[in-house]
Amino acid sequence: MKKILIIGGGIAGLSAGIFAQKNGFHSIVVEKHHTLGGECTGWDRQGYHIDGCIHWLVGTKKGTGIHDLWVTVGALDGVEIYHPESLIAVEHEGITVHFYRDLEQLQSSWLEISPEDRKEIEQFCMDIKKLHGFSIPSGKPIDLMGPLEKIRYIISMKDVGPVMEKYGKITVKELAGKFKHPALREAIASFMPEGEYSAASVLFPLGTFTGGQSSIPKGGSRALAERMAERYRSLGGTVETSCEALDAEIEGRTVKSIGCKSGRRFEADYFIAACDPKVLYEQLLEGRYPDPQFEKRYHNPEVYPLASNIYIGIAYEGDMKDIPRTLKFPVESVDINQDGKPIEYLQMTHYGYEPDFAPEGHTVMTFAINQFKQELERWELLVEDPDAYNSEKKRIGKEVIDAVETRFPSMKGKLKLLDVATPQTYVRYCNAYRGAFMGFWPTISGKTLNHPGAIKGLDNLMLSGQWLQPPGGLPVAVITGKDSIMRICKKEKKNFREETE
Ligand SMILES: Cc1cc2nc3c(=O)[nH]c(=O)nc-3n(C[C@H](O)[C@H](O)[C@H](O)COP(=O)(O)OP(=O)(O)OC[C@H]3O[C@@H](n4cnc5c(N)ncnc54)[C@H](O)[C@@H]3O)c2cc1C
Repeated sequence: MKKILIIGGGIAGLSAGIFAQKNGFHSIVVEKHHTLGGECTGWDRQGYHIDGCIHWLVGTKKGTGIHDLWVTVGALDGVEIYHPESLIAVEHEGITVHFYRDLEQLQSSWLEISPEDRKEIEQFCMDIKKLHGFSIPSGKPIDLMGPLEKIRYIISMKDVGPVMEKYGKITVKELAGKFKHPALREAIASFMPEGEYSAASVLFPLGTFTGGQSSIPKGGSRALAERMAERYRSLGGTVETSCEALDAEIEGRTVKSIGCKSGRRFEADYFIAACDPKVLYEQLLEGRYPDPQFEKRYHNPEVYPLASNIYIGIAYEGDMKDIPRTLKFPVESVDINQDGKPIEYLQMTHYGYEPDFAPEGHTVMTFAINQFKQELERWELLVEDPDAYNSEKKRIGKEVIDAVETRFPSMKGKLKLLDVATPQTYVRYCNAYRGAFMGFWPTISGKTLNHPGAIKGLDNLMLSGQWLQPPGGLPVAVITGKDSIMRICKKEKKNFREETE
């Protein structure tokens, strides 16, 4: 039986492992952290559970290929799905703009706010609707398709092309500027920070959300990853946690073994790097097999920006049933970044629909504050001084609690800081380059990366994970994990099997 060693036990690594086992390989996942799941995780603090990932999961709609894939890997098998009423609600000067799941409701509520924007609102909703028929391709990767399959693939993308053409070339700010009403403008602009970010990043999430394709699996992110880990183990897969891969032994075009921090070496016939690409290219391969597509992006952060998060968990002694699941509200003088420029909004997500995340009568909420190049550099310096780093986390937590109490005076005295994760948290636990929680952000001048996962010069090592394809995130992780096994099956002249016999 041929052996596959998988580096990284995030969603891509677990997906690769599950399909390796289903296809008659012997696989081992080596994972740096002591748990599996990578960035798809959650953690417990003071009797509460902080969900660290899923705000929406593409693939919750039955009948789509990506849903079937999630079911096959055990992630959504028999799992109850929570359908929030809106993707996000944004407050601006006393008006709340809802991005409702029901597109007609979205349209009519926006028309009520701004009848003078009728033309733009109707056009916007019509373009979102065009994406309802689109489902992220989850079958064969393009490099394995025959000519007929390629034609079918191109036809399946027919609704996406015109939307990308129209929205991929304008910025989020330009899209927002088409609307006359300041609340609508602000709501759209708030999707992305100021900059060159493409308006497609507003359309696609709304397309999948209002098309019923993306909701939230009950139990949250950690439970989803645990179900996949369980599926992997039940198929006979082997897991080595607290086992960081550090180096690769290479002969000619073949990787022979991977050495881990624990001192163990693992030999295999194939290797899949389901870790951050920087770890692969610079650490494991010591810069000897640079990839031009990644290099171009790493060296051009203006066109290919990266972002991480400050992620804050707060407990509230009360229920939040009347507050949208994700709410963006304006704040004044909240000093998060210490660059003299206060942030303008806070984005709050609450988990009132998850009774097991908090003691009865209490609710957990999280706040995600994006961090970009300048801030990431600051965290890289700060983490070197543990006292300063920890007190900065506490300070930020307090700033956020004060801001929440200002917005919701009835919560005063009933909020408790549970945890503050920083970009360095993702570096520490997941080896994520600069703490990035997704691949390069889409800008109007950047090209989307569509990477086949191959490493030029090496025949038995490939890359999987969220970085390889748009739009990134969990669907791309699960798809590219499977794709690596499809490619190995082709090399081995085996028919790829999705289901176990
Ligand atoms: C706050 C937050 C919110 C998010 N929200 C969403 C959302 O709503 N929807 C969505 O689709 N996506 C979301 N994402 C993104 C999603 O979490 C990621 O796209 C996905 O988890 C990436 O999976 P992956 O397997 O490609 O990589 P990772 O999760 O990064 O997994 C890589 C694994 O490799 C391990 N590793 C790294 N180096 C080594 C080494 N040398 N040796 C051994 N192991 C190693 C890491 O520890 C990690 O476990 C969110 C992420 C964050 C942080």
